Amino acid sequence: MSRPPHIAIVTPAFNEAAVLPQLFARLTALFDAHPGVAWSVVLIDDGSRDATAALIETQCAQDPRFHLVALSRNFGFQNALAAGLAQCADMDAVVTMDADLQDPPELIPDMVAAWRDGAEIVLAVRRSRQESGLRRVGFELFHRWFGSLIDLSIERNTGTFGLLGRNALAAFNQLPEVHRFFPGLRSWVGFSRAEVYYDRKERAAGQPGQSLPQLIRYALDGLFSFSHLPLRLLTYAGVFIAGVGFSIGVFFIVRRLLGIEVAQTGFTTLVTLLLFIGGVQLVGIGVLGEYLGRIYDEVKRRPNYIVKRRVGFD
Ligand code: UDP
Ligand code: MG
Repeated sequence: MSRPPHIAIVTPAFNEAAVLPQLFARLTALFDAHPGVAWSVVLIDDGSRDATAALIETQCAQDPRFHLVALSRNFGFQNALAAGLAQCADMDAVVTMDADLQDPPELIPDMVAAWRDGAEIVLAVRRSRQESGLRRVGFELFHRWFGSLIDLSIERNTGTFGLLGRNALAAFNQLPEVHRFFPGLRSWVGFSRAEVYYDRKERAAGQPGQSLPQLIRYALDGLFSFSHLPLRLLTYAGVFIAGVGFSIGVFFIVRRLLGIEVAQTGFTTLVTLLLFIGGVQLVGIGVLGEYLGRIYDEVKRRPNYIVKRRVGFD
């Protein structure tokens, strides 16, 4: 008789005390309904300032399937996720999921089924999302444009929610970069993949922990980590502006040689051109700086997170 597969659910939590009781209830109900799998939950407390860590610890004491990794401060979602995945090297598969129940845990058995059918990576694809206002517009734009900008195809309408088999997880845990963009890296590691579909709900309780500026940074992280397009665009802009300058030069030289009088005014034109070209140059330096800053972060080789405490691990 073969042993049941060992599957861990990895969930970063930052100030999620309001949703945790619901999360625990839905996970335990799910586990009880699917006894054919040896389930674990790895919750990462990403430096929460509320009762998140205490609630998780109580749950760990009641139910040995639950585990806590507490980070020494808030390191951000990507790093918290990496901290959790690093604890799961001996799992057969891991499910990556948000704590706020926007990702319905009830979808996990479908992912496990797809994985058992041979997919190394299973992606949860959103059929719809319920967020509203600016956040929604932002998400829509990001998913529409991002895919066409970067050098890698990231599956549309996928986020963190998904399953990684043992080999994909090992590959992910080996990636050395400091700036981590999980959907991009998951795409980068390759392997066979399958999709399952779901409707994304509003968070069950509490406030979104990732502010809009954080999400914009995250989007830029994705762009700069997976594309040299900003640099290439600058080269194109440079070639174009230089070409226009050269043509104008030729035009005036020819006029001069033909003896056509050249007007001595043109102050407005000069100022406009000067500011325009100055602006393009500053944008260029800014884009270079983005890459330089990233190179600096990478060469420093600082760890992505610091674990303060682990509860429930042997
Ligand atoms: N989160 C985290 N660290 C942070 C911010 C958020 O671990 O600094 C977690 C949060 O607890 C949740 C997940 O990341 O489990 C997604 O966060 P949120 O719901 O705020 O983001 P959104 O759904 O708006 O992308
Ligand atoms: Mg959320």
